[in-house]
Amino acid sequence: MRYHLTILLSFFLAAVLASVNGFSQQSEQEKLFDLEAQKVSARQRLITHQLDSAILLSDQGAYEKADEKFKVVLKNLKSIPSDFTFHFGKNSFHLGLYKQSIDWLNKYIQLKGTSGQYSEAAVDWLAKAETALLKEREVQARQAGEVLSRDYDIDCGAAGKVLCPICSGTTVVVKKGYLNETYKTCPYCNRVGFLSCEDYNKLVRGELIPSSN
Ligand SMILES: [Zn+2]
Repeated sequence: MRYHLTILLSFFLAAVLASVNGFSQQSEQEKLFDLEAQKVSARQRLITHQLDSAILLSDQGAYEKADEKFKVVLKNLKSIPSDFTFHFGKNSFHLGLYKQSIDWLNKYIQLKGTSGQYSEAAVDWLAKAETALLKEREVQARQAGEVLSRDYDIDCGAAGKVLCPICSGTTVVVKKGYLNETYKTCPYCNRVGFLSCEDYNKLVRGELIPSSN
């Protein structure tokens, strides 16, 4: 009986020891894990701080300084938060980097569609950047001595009218949204699908004003 008890007791002791050993091993691992997590979150905080101050600087008009901080974030993050794409795209516009601006603003719109916090602003800035890029290209073309068609009145031929290039003669403009398409009457050709030669020439110069309905 005593013998059995001793065996039982030693089994019990072994089990206790094993569990204590297991427990201390686990807590050692947990400590390492915690340390690693602390490092990661400290780094994350640092980057978040950089991003916040980049946005603030950009809003204050310090675009160059903001750009430096945005680039620190880019260098240190593997996965870029979607809001970053908007702020960086907008800041790039102010630096006159229109292609870069268009690239990042488009990224925001692709990611967030029309429902993002900055969707409306992103579309506005994108339009500004596209216009600025077009103007810049025109200036470059003129400096290079290129002859541009918009400087000339184009003869539309005997018919005196041209198929409306905005709606391709369908009188309807399709706007491709993020999720669906919307249809709208073409604001340029007055529901006929054609433009007079005069209006056509105005259109290519960007001088034809669309009707509001
Ligand atoms: Zn039209």
